[in-house]
Amino acid sequence: MQRHIYLEDTYSFTATTQVIDAGHSDLGHWITLADNVFHPQGGGQPSDAGTVDGTPTRPFKAPDTSEHIVRLTCENPLGVGATVTSAVDAQARRRHAALHTCGHVVDGFVRNLGFKHRVSNHFPGQARIEFDAGADKPDLEHLAATVEEQTRQAIEASRKVYATERDGLRIIGIDGLHEDPCGGTHVDSLSRLTGFAVRSVKVKGGVLKVGYVVEHA
Ligand SMILES: [Zn+2]
Repeated sequence: MQRHIYLEDTYSFTATTQVIDAGHSDLGHWITLADNVFHPQGGGQPSDAGTVDGTPTRPFKAPDTSEHIVRLTCENPLGVGATVTSAVDAQARRRHAALHTCGHVVDGFVRNLGFKHRVSNHFPGQARIEFDAGADKPDLEHLAATVEEQTRQAIEASRKVYATERDGLRIIGIDGLHEDPCGGTHVDSLSRLTGFAVRSVKVKGGVLKVGYVVEHA
């Protein structure tokens, strides 16, 4: 059973831990660690980058099991039972968590205006949330101003971000605002966010796209 530290604490960047499984696939050699600090790509969020004993690695979800197991690529084979030190790129982790959490806030406020969520993209430089645009063309200027103001107020209010579990699902909540099932990494308080702005709002092919920028303080 693998412990996912990245789901417990966004700001826990390293783990000295044991190799509990190892193998080889088309990605090369891989290992599974008992304590895992790496977020694998998913839910619109990029994967963490990092190192195992100082060598670059990438996490990926084990494709051959229904269990949530995260494997790490490694240049050279490592044996089961070996102890290694793993570390995620802390700066990238913080940036991804800020973009992702801010995405929840923006998403919630746009949904409050009556739009149905389609998909989220939390990648740096292209972060945006997409919605069904609806039958009538929305007033995009008003929408952008409303969502920007409400998100700024939520950040200024330093709203807490919490994780809980309901019906076997991990639920992420912004205190007093929205809750959503989510498996990503998040900041612990909106006070961690800085430089927020709505960068673009447009409708194309019946899809409303709300793009934004934000950084980790
Ligand atoms: Zn999330």
